[in-house]
Amino acid sequence: MDRACQDLGMRDEVRELLRRPMREYHALLPLQMDNGQRRVYEAYRVQYNNARGPTKGGIRWHANENIDTVRALACWMTWKTAVLDLPLGGGKGGITCNPRELSDTEKERLARNYMRAFAPIMSANIDIPAPDVHTTPQIMAWMLDEYETITGRHEPGVITGKPISLGGSAGRSDATSLGGLIIIQEIDDALGLKLNKARYVIQGFGNVGGGIAKLLHEHGGRVVGISAEDTGLYNAKGIDIPKVLAHYDSHAQRLGGFDGADEISNAELLALDCDILVPAAIENALTRSNSEAVSAKVIVELANGPITPAADKTFQDKGITVVPDILANAGGVTVSYLEQVQNAHNYYWPISEVHKQLNQRMSGAFQSLWQLSQERKISMRDAAYQISVERVAKACEIRGWV
Ligand code: NAD
Repeated sequence: MDRACQDLGMRDEVRELLRRPMREYHALLPLQMDNGQRRVYEAYRVQYNNARGPTKGGIRWHANENIDTVRALACWMTWKTAVLDLPLGGGKGGITCNPRELSDTEKERLARNYMRAFAPIMSANIDIPAPDVHTTPQIMAWMLDEYETITGRHEPGVITGKPISLGGSAGRSDATSLGGLIIIQEIDDALGLKLNKARYVIQGFGNVGGGIAKLLHEHGGRVVGISAEDTGLYNAKGIDIPKVLAHYDSHAQRLGGFDGADEISNAELLALDCDILVPAAIENALTRSNSEAVSAKVIVELANGPITPAADKTFQDKGITVVPDILANAGGVTVSYLEQVQNAHNYYWPISEVHKQLNQRMSGAFQSLWQLSQERKISMRDAAYQISVERVAKACEIRGWV
């Protein structure tokens, strides 16, 4: 972002405003456990910038969640909504907790507690949460119900990623993966690769990683490597994705013990010979120490922040094209926006309309970014930041903030 501000000749006060969150909220959530004991959880909501519209971003439940991660994710949401030219700002929330240790009834009480703490700073016109790591449509439904109980009115647009029966959008559950597929098709066309001839390696096999593996497989792509937290898998002939998806679901989200591929480490997975590497697990997966070994031609970031700045520099030096997260994984927030539009009209579209809009918006954003990166001879990440920072800065200036 600093580099984009410098390249765009932004004034110091604009840079000062954009480099930190406008507002952040902390809460302590006391939770009654099923055994009658009480535990206290830390929770956060960061509203990074709302110059272009209400702040928008998911709520993550994770044992390592902390205010720094939430700030970074809220910052990325600001650029992501701007790259896609959605009339939204950026925000993010989280609870430091280990969801694997919570029962469903404890999860419901925690979700309702979160909304009780933050309802005063949320609305469809102020700040709109959504699911992220370890939060689900069911958790969104509990949060919506709590919000509507507090305010005494229906307002489904206050939260997205809801179940369809409560005003969710068709196509939301696999929107991030589908958006990723659209971007992979675009980069393949731009670089002269063929989707069904390319070999893919995917790190992470959850909602996003498992989803993109399934879509690539359905489109004839050969997925030679995948991984989850427990292990990686490799098969040079291509992994049978429907079979491994069934294994993952029936083995408590583990890949170990699958008999159609060899088990490999995470380090070996990232170094596999392939055309496209898709990090879809966690932030900081590719670092100074493991980036030299990467031999992919292209990296498509479906996780948020999977490449550290040092690794990014290595990839640039090695001539590896990186499609940045703020474009590549924006399918989820794009369909969240479409969900909100449908909620506002109280009128729901068929999935074909959602897919048409998603296609147009993702492809359009890719083309603008690709052209700028070619014209200015800069990386796609720098092009993405130049486009988004300029849009957000313009909105701040026109409002008279700086
Ligand atoms: P998820 O919890 O469903 O899946 C995460 C996957 O990563 C799991 O398979 C897990 O086993 C694996 N994993 C965790 N640590 C790992 C490690 N060290 N090595 C290898 N694999 C590991 O989460 P998700 O919703 O798929 O999100 C994944 C990433 O995509 C996150 O960075 C998230 O912020 C980002 N993202 C998600 C969405 C969305 O709509 N879900 C949208 C945009 C971005």
